[in-house]
Amino acid sequence: MNVIVRVTFELGQDRKVAAIRIQCLVHWLFFIFGEIMQINKIYNLLNKSIEKCKKSKDVPVVSLLYKDEYNFYLGFNTRQKKYEINNHAEINCINKAFKKTRSKNMSEYKLYVNLKPCLMCITTLEQVNIKEVYYWLENDKIDYSRIRSSIIFSKVYNKRQEEFFRNELQNFFKILRG
Ligand SMILES: [Zn+2]
Repeated sequence: MNVIVRVTFELGQDRKVAAIRIQCLVHWLFFIFGEIMQINKIYNLLNKSIEKCKKSKDVPVVSLLYKDEYNFYLGFNTRQKKYEINNHAEINCINKAFKKTRSKNMSEYKLYVNLKPCLMCITTLEQVNIKEVYYWLENDKIDYSRIRSSIIFSKVYNKRQEEFFRNELQNFFKILRG
């Protein structure tokens, strides 16, 4: 009798553990799904905005400083357009946010950019406490060993999206050289 009770109890415990595990898995799947949806939404916004860079003969880099659906700032590379050496997309959207919110603390924001930020931009991101950056393309021209940063850089792995941004950059340089 005792054995039967114990076995039943253990089986019950197992079920509980299994139920918790399934619950965790479902939460995790929802989280991942939500993240993917979020990335796709931001990609679409950046994709549509990249056209603006072409008009000014600026390297097509676009970025988005994002807190939630009501608080976000788009930035384009306008170095050539405005003849301002620090007008990279990332710095432009940080400046927009700073002008609007009057706060230098942007720790609640994440930055999304098609090309991994350069050292000047990373230093600026540090200044305003941005902790997370999402990017699509690696930046081979930058020697990242020259800087130490606590920012978490996450690459977005999506072939179709990467290809779009890569083509935009390649076409830009082709036209510039051609
Ligand atoms: Zn930069």
